[in-house]
Amino acid sequence: MNKEKKRKGRSPFVAGNWKMNKTLSEARELAKSIVKASFNLAGAEIVLCPPFTVLYEVAKLIEGSSVQLGAQDIFWEDSGAFTGEISGPMLLDVGCQYVIVGHSERRQIIKENDDIINLKIKAALRNNLFPILCIGETLEEREKGLTLSRIESQIENDLKNINQEEAAKIIIAYEPVWAIGTGKNATPDQAEEAHQYIRKILNRKYGNELANCAIILYGGSVKPENVVSLAEQDNVDGFLVGGASLDAQSFIKIIEKSIEVKQK
Ligand code: PEP
Repeated sequence: MNKEKKRKGRSPFVAGNWKMNKTLSEARELAKSIVKASFNLAGAEIVLCPPFTVLYEVAKLIEGSSVQLGAQDIFWEDSGAFTGEISGPMLLDVGCQYVIVGHSERRQIIKENDDIINLKIKAALRNNLFPILCIGETLEEREKGLTLSRIESQIENDLKNINQEEAAKIIIAYEPVWAIGTGKNATPDQAEEAHQYIRKILNRKYGNELANCAIILYGGSVKPENVVSLAEQDNVDGFLVGGASLDAQSFIKIIEKSIEVKQK
């Protein structure tokens, strides 16, 4: 794994998923504002996950700051005839330390399944990238009382043949599908229940120490207005933010409020 890279403690950790947004000039403007603010946000780990086309530019802009870089996806092979795909060595080369794997938009729209996600996690790990693994239930699954079993099966399948040393490098983002981009966030109790359960599964699979140290993020319509009560939950270590990360002021507010709550 990345030798120089050591994650701080558990929290707060805030990552912005820009999804398929931001041209080069827009990305520059957003990254510059976040870098400027980051010097007063030393209490948090901040990761930006822009689209592939602007990774190199954002990598240059965050140099010398505490802001870190993540990609939104990775291919499971390291090179070869895979038109349109981006590999782990390419992401590392451009300056990424993190990569989002298994986002629900890729699971649902691109039809990525747990086998593919497992391969992508392995590709990230062998290329010294920290995977941010997204899991979470659909509305239908929640309504049928299947939330916890869905979370469990995703962890089991996505982490198949991942050993303890490797698992220690994985960040899990609990992102209920019904909360992503909908403006309807999970309640603090719903988030805490899921995060507690994730920690319990990690404990069972990898032991107490790993489970206690694991960073577990919440994602799904996080905004400056709802972040405090979510951050107040013991097992919520930070956030994966989509829509609200596209605006510097709202993303910075989310980080500021997370630090405030976790430092209390
Ligand atoms: C996401 O894309 O991971 C996400 C949580 O999006 P949003 O914050 O827009 O719901």
